Amino acid sequence: MTDCLFCKIIAGAIPSSKVYEDETVYAFRDIAPQAPVHILVVPKAHISDCNGVNGDNSAVIAHIFEVIPVIARAEGLEGGYRVVSNCGPHAGQTVGHLHFHILGGKQLALEMA
Ligand code: AMP
Repeated sequence: MTDCLFCKIIAGAIPSSKVYEDETVYAFRDIAPQAPVHILVVPKAHISDCNGVNGDNSAVIAHIFEVIPVIARAEGLEGGYRVVSNCGPHAGQTVGHLHFHILGGKQLALEMA
């Protein structure tokens, strides 16, 4: 996956503002934040998008959803936050490595589409 931006970030080849890391998950601040807190949580293993989740790799996705509340607490998001994963061009996915946006720190707009 030498051409994957987020694989390079995970490997440390491209700098990032890391907020969390363990054996299977990496999280860092979005370079173009859409909210006061905007963090990307990614599996270290390359999975292209939601369509790439299967029985062989779904444990890391479950783990990501254990990690997200840990990050949210550390970021002071007691008032709530949004978790978003864009899948494919119609959703506006721009990086082909599965990632979950954590957005918070303000009252978010209600529009979903
Ligand atoms: P998406 O549009 O859902 O694929 O999200 C990709 C996100 O990656 C966008 O919010 C970008 O701002 C963010 N992004 C792109 N390059 C970097 C980078 N080098 N470091 C941190 N975030 C990035």
